[in-house]
Amino acid sequence: MALSYSAEFANLPEVTLEEIGWNQEFEKEFEPYRKQGWIPARLVEETKINFRAWLETGEELEVVTGGKVWHEADCDADLPAVGDWVAVEVQGEDDEHIIRAQLSRVTTFSRKKPGNSSEEQVIAANVDVVVVVTDAVADFNVRRLERYLILIGKSGARGVLLVNKADLVTEAEMAALVAEVKEIDPQVEVHGASAVEGTGLEVLKNYLTPGTTLALVGSSGVGKSTLVNQLLDREDLLTGEVNEVTGKGRHTTSWRELVLLPSGGMLIDNPGIREVQMWTDEATLRESFFDIEELTLQCRFADCKHERDAGCAIVSAVESGELDPARYESFLNLEIEIAELKRRQKKRQMATERWAKRDRKIKARNWEDRVELDKEERGDW
Ligand code: GDP
Ligand code: ZN
Repeated sequence: MALSYSAEFANLPEVTLEEIGWNQEFEKEFEPYRKQGWIPARLVEETKINFRAWLETGEELEVVTGGKVWHEADCDADLPAVGDWVAVEVQGEDDEHIIRAQLSRVTTFSRKKPGNSSEEQVIAANVDVVVVVTDAVADFNVRRLERYLILIGKSGARGVLLVNKADLVTEAEMAALVAEVKEIDPQVEVHGASAVEGTGLEVLKNYLTPGTTLALVGSSGVGKSTLVNQLLDREDLLTGEVNEVTGKGRHTTSWRELVLLPSGGMLIDNPGIREVQMWTDEATLRESFFDIEELTLQCRFADCKHERDAGCAIVSAVESGELDPARYESFLNLEIEIAELKRRQKKRQMATERWAKRDRKIKARNWEDRVELDKEERGDW
């Protein structure tokens, strides 16, 4: 496909659209846009205002959101996000290339915006597989893993658990941890791994078939960077070290939110995705105890505290072995946990709002510029 523009970045090997996630469904939805002469592209990185997008030529292009797309979005969550497929109108060399339309998302990773707003913020679109990384030592917590799986289920992606640092425990200990996870749900996909010994890599590669987009999530320190480095087959994402020059934990120059892996498949990686626990809101937290909430309806007294009360359905479920005592324990701690969550959110909210204010100013300024430019040059959107 010959395009009449000079791509700023030609650092990708020749790829087909299928290799970066394209499929029949997208093709069908795209049909009317092809007739317009627009080309399909996948958004791989959000820059300050624009996006970088991949084209089927294997090239990268800077694209801006077109006026129609802006206007048709009811909320921020409807606007293009990293991972999205879009229709781009490629312009001449000195003009901006414009996102004219957006294709439907297969999966959506979002979180509620901090604060009282019920607005959603999309972290990544079209992630197929989310691997929750934990370790076989300090981080391991079945309840938390369970919540991750609920969140992933909501996004539409396939959730996989990886228990890393197998080298630090015996085989029997690892088998016990895996069995514990299977108690959440016997169908859950869970693997033991050791990133340092390379066994984690093997497991991950099975999910990374061509066209698949995978994300790694989990607490800090469990080995995500180590795994990413191995998958990328490079050393330029620093592991656990602070760059003396930038003061940051990674080289900023090589940062891409979506990367094509040498072995096939794609990796989506950004702080929002990594720190997925930030999505946890009160409603989701409560929802993860839905079954227990249901049980409370059977307690004899409406004001049952589910501790020593007579006729408590939850206590009797624990006694009969129907309900895991650890799960009962975390249910009792739920209110404390929600209070703690709110405290943390409040703190983050203040920081985020400061940034958002700045961001909006930049966006507004840019938007005004663009409207002006539009009037002068095109007047068609
Ligand atoms: P991240 O915060 O999740 O990205 O974790 P890192 O990849 O930075 O790893 C945190 C620490 O755990 C580093 O010191 C790694 O060398 C170490 N680590 C990672 N994977 C393994 C593993 O499989 N076994 C052991 N023993 N250590 C590991
Ligand atoms: Zn009760």
